[in-house]
Amino acid sequence: MAVPQRRQTRSRGHMRRSHHALSAKALVSCTKCSNKILPHTVCPTCGNYKGRDAIKVKGY
Ligand SMILES: [Zn+2]
Repeated sequence: MAVPQRRQTRSRGHMRRSHHALSAKALVSCTKCSNKILPHTVCPTCGNYKGRDAIKVKGY
């Protein structure tokens, strides 16, 4: 395995990790049950997608 020839400075490590931050997921509310869901996905609570029941959900 390749081994680094010299130690990176603290500043260099910080500069690399400046791109590692996570951002909050975009959430939209379901048109049927108004639960928060990921966009372009079937609602896991009521099975709604684009105004119709795409999947059967137990107990809904
Ligand atoms: Zn829903």
